[in-house]
Amino acid sequence: MRKKFWNNLWELLKPYHKKISGVVFLIVVVQWFGVITPYFLKLVIDLITNFNSQDIFRILVLTGAIFISEQLGSLIRAYSDKMSYNVLANVENYLSVRAQEKMVNLSLAYHERENTGSKISKIQRGIYGVLDLLSNFIWEIAPTIFKVVITSIVLFITDYRFGLVFIFFVPIFLYVSYKYNLRVSPMRKKRYDAYEKSAGMMAQSIININTVKSFAKEDFEILNFKKNANKITKNALYEYALKVKYAIGRNLIVDLGKGFVLLFGVYLIANNDISVGTFVFVFTVSDKALLSLYSISRLYDRVMESSEGILRLSTLFSEKIEIESKHGGKKVKKLKGYIEFKNVEFSYDETGARALHNASINIDAGAMVALIGPSGGGKTTMARMIYRHYDPQKGKILLDGINLKEYDLYSMRKRMAIVPQEVEIFNATIKENISYAYPKASINLVKKSAMVANAHEFISSIENGYSAIVGERGVKLSGGQRQRIGIARAILSNPDILVFDEATSNLDSESENLIQSALEKISKNRTTIVIAHRLSTVEKADKIIVLKKGRIVEVGTHSGLAKKKAGLYRELLNLQRIGEIE
Ligand code: ADP
Repeated sequence: MRKKFWNNLWELLKPYHKKISGVVFLIVVVQWFGVITPYFLKLVIDLITNFNSQDIFRILVLTGAIFISEQLGSLIRAYSDKMSYNVLANVENYLSVRAQEKMVNLSLAYHERENTGSKISKIQRGIYGVLDLLSNFIWEIAPTIFKVVITSIVLFITDYRFGLVFIFFVPIFLYVSYKYNLRVSPMRKKRYDAYEKSAGMMAQSIININTVKSFAKEDFEILNFKKNANKITKNALYEYALKVKYAIGRNLIVDLGKGFVLLFGVYLIANNDISVGTFVFVFTVSDKALLSLYSISRLYDRVMESSEGILRLSTLFSEKIEIESKHGGKKVKKLKGYIEFKNVEFSYDETGARALHNASINIDAGAMVALIGPSGGGKTTMARMIYRHYDPQKGKILLDGINLKEYDLYSMRKRMAIVPQEVEIFNATIKENISYAYPKASINLVKKSAMVANAHEFISSIENGYSAIVGERGVKLSGGQRQRIGIARAILSNPDILVFDEATSNLDSESENLIQSALEKISKNRTTIVIAHRLSTVEKADKIIVLKKGRIVEVGTHSGLAKKKAGLYRELLNLQRIGEIE
């Protein structure tokens, strides 16, 4: 897992490999400056301890050198910081844009599977994890590693005995840190799972707030949340107690290390083996390095914390896009709108029941076709397959005689439009919502489309009219109004194929009439597929396709099918309430 994690992380940072390497190089340079200054200090101390008036000039030069090397070090550090901030800001930008790109490109099937809250939290935690890890690496991990390595080298060069003492303590320290993490990591994982559960619970109560309130279940929701929150606190406290316990052990090791260097140094000075300057030098650099070991062990913890989020983000980035546009696929400016299903088999998941079974049907160019049948029969599935939101597992779907898969997906979809039952409204003005497909459309065109959609009148009566903000924070629209906005949006894009999902919910009869008459107007000159719930729509259709349990059970016109004895359509008709069959 470790290797995979680092590989994934490195891949996430792909465009910044060069810059990050540059930063690492500067970090190494800065760390060398960290030993140069104490070395000059050592030379000064050696000159002072054997003071000779002729050495005054050398002492002054050395003091100047200390000052210059400090300044140089700080300048390089400043430059490296500047570069690091630049990398961090760019990585954040790059990852969030890449996430948005991935989100809008992933197929509908993926979005239907995954919960919106969890997708967003995955992205946010992942990006935060990468940035956190990267800044820790730049400001703590890399400097410490290089400091320890450089200190070991310098100590060995200065006096191998100090080098040995130093590298004796480093592994003990690292081992204790490793042990600690081994004990803590399952607890941390549990804590993280509980965090996610908490977020999920809160999201569920917010999304379903209507139900919560109408059943007076506020206390129940709070209590459940509290239970989970208490579990987190209990786990966290246990973890932190362990952390404190191990910190005592690590402190002891560092203090023992320092003590050894001190004692050994004193012993060597007493034996005239080393100079006072060398002793001060050795003590200063090893002290600094041992102290910075602390940050490594602390950071190991943080790295492990970020790794979970980072892994999840990179899994998301490598999520396969199920429906891909064929490379060099056929681009179209206009479609005739002739659709054929040939023995199409489709199920949503490998093991699940078939949503469409051996479906074969022709839809003439320019025809108006109604899909009807009991709920779960496969109407939505069939309609969605026309605009290639899913590909069949067997059989094929042809558009103007060419397999859908052969088209350039985007140019093909541009010639189609969908009016779903629940029209999605962006948090923007009505004009922007209608002209979503062509944001540059003139206000006149927007108004014309709204008129055809029978939406102009109600829009004009709203304060601010076409400039009114609708959606999340704006004017609330009724179901019928939303659908008419959806129709206007579809009309404006002037599609060759229109898929219309009639609302099943009870619209007031005025809305219903307005929508019906809009549908009649727009179904002219284009292939229109309506998932129909209303008798008036079905009667006008050129062809009625009756679906039941994924099979096409009847095809015909209203008059033809109505005469058929013991037919499903006739049965539905007898109920006279096609709208309520769903
Ligand atoms: P209809 O539109 O006629 O009500 P659908 O096409 O929505 O029927 O559904 C056909 C079958 O496919 C049903 O059994 C339904 O449960 C299943 N189904 C629909 N959408 C999905 C989905 N996103 N994931 C899994 N199964 C689905």
